[in-house]
Amino acid sequence: MSTIDPSVVERLLAVRDQAYTPYSEHPVGALIETAAGRRYAGCNVEIANYKGLCAEAGAIAAMVANGERRIDTLYVIGPAEHLCTPCGDCRQRMREFASPATRIHVLDGRGQWLKSYTMDALLPDSFGPENIGKPSPMHD
Ligand SMILES: [Zn+2]
Repeated sequence: MSTIDPSVVERLLAVRDQAYTPYSEHPVGALIETAAGRRYAGCNVEIANYKGLCAEAGAIAAMVANGERRIDTLYVIGPAEHLCTPCGDCRQRMREFASPATRIHVLDGRGQWLKSYTMDALLPDSFGPENIGKPSPMHD
């Protein structure tokens, strides 16, 4: 993929610009598309003890709060030209609601596509619900 739906880019830029990042000054936006076609956005929210919330986590929380449990596609936008991939904690959080084929697209700060991944590529041989005998979308 080299072009992203303009409405996705617009929403990513808008939510990224709402980020609260007085400490890192590294605003990030995330947007989830579900199989039902709905979109949920999140931005990073820092606090003074540095234990802030990532944009991906905010988007996942919004999705779950609205009764959905499955990430079809996830987009991440950072503040600049460098690749702003999900952190390790977010990869595990995303994996809870993703399938191996779930796509993750990373955009630069202007909204240009940089790179795409599958969930399985971002977190290979991952630990999940099935490892403790629970159902998991990773194996539907
Ligand atoms: Zn993160």
